[in-house]
Amino acid sequence: MAEILIPEVLVSSAIDDLRARFDVAYLPDLWKNPEALAAEVKNTRVLIVRTFTRITHAILHAGTRLQLVGRAGVGLDNIDVDAAEKAGIVVAYTPSQNAISVAEMAIGLMIALTRHICVANQDTHSRGWNRTRYFGPELYGKKLGIIGAGRIGFLTGKRAQAFGMEIVTNDPYLSQDNIYLSELRAKLVSLDDLLAESDIVSCHVPLTAETTGLLNRDRFQQMKSTAYLINTSRGPVIDEVALVEALKAGQIAGAALDVRNTEPPAASDLEGMPNVILIPHIASFTHEAQERVTRAICEDVVRFLEGKPVQQPATSFSFRR
Ligand code: NAD
Repeated sequence: MAEILIPEVLVSSAIDDLRARFDVAYLPDLWKNPEALAAEVKNTRVLIVRTFTRITHAILHAGTRLQLVGRAGVGLDNIDVDAAEKAGIVVAYTPSQNAISVAEMAIGLMIALTRHICVANQDTHSRGWNRTRYFGPELYGKKLGIIGAGRIGFLTGKRAQAFGMEIVTNDPYLSQDNIYLSELRAKLVSLDDLLAESDIVSCHVPLTAETTGLLNRDRFQQMKSTAYLINTSRGPVIDEVALVEALKAGQIAGAALDVRNTEPPAASDLEGMPNVILIPHIASFTHEAQERVTRAICEDVVRFLEGKPVQQPATSFSFRR
């Protein structure tokens, strides 16, 4: 059994560097079979995962030699961090490393959605030339509501500022004197006010019990009928059934989703709606971000195996106990 197990696709020269020094098992389809993963993890010291592998209580307990779970990325909803904490297993992750890519995607989706780029592209590819069908609003002068003003929310706001947008944010864990909010000249408002005022709402919260279903039937009713919704955070933050109803009822103007309630998603009425953009959880899929997250986690793994603390622990401890 290998010292380091990578049970899903992770491509980077950093993996080759790791292989040159340690015994690495790279099994990119293993995440699909939790029983096989549990068997494989038994004699492994380090697991490196991205989004697909579910590191449950059972997997952590199957890993009797397991000391570190490295997450190449930022969302920790696929890892039972509490169970790792109790078992004395360090969890390390790579916040910030893909934030620029996600922020760029959020802005890309805003422009594509409001200016109908995707439907106009499809139409024109099919020999259409319907110029007057695709009117939409400028971003300039519009109000962007950022839910969750952390790393990605901030970087999205910075980019939106360059377009001349006004920014309001909702984040119960920040106060108005936060330096990042000052830099964005963003007003911290209640979620009620953000939804009522914003022309575009962009979600950047982690998936927690509190944020699951955060945008539901009642919340869509609070939004402007001309407002657009962007989600590059986690799918379950939005109640998709309620979103379909809101779009059909014209309660909001459109939505762009990088992430879905289940992934891959079940068939949904969202498919085929001209005012909906659907992409397959690719906001962080740039060459630069993937290289950065993989390199950062591999460097932390090396540090850990050399007996040093990891740089970005998600657990309250950062080295072997
Ligand atoms: P972050 O921790 O820096 O920021 C999250 C912010 O959300 C924090 O400021 C926090 O206070 C705030 N928050 C928490 N609960 C909230 C609530 N109930 N209401 C409003 N705000 C709340 O995280 P980040 O690096 O900005 O990433 C945000 C999320 O984006 C991640 O947790 C991850 O799920 C998602 N993400 C998606 C992709 C992708 O490929 N689509 C890539 C990276 C991250």
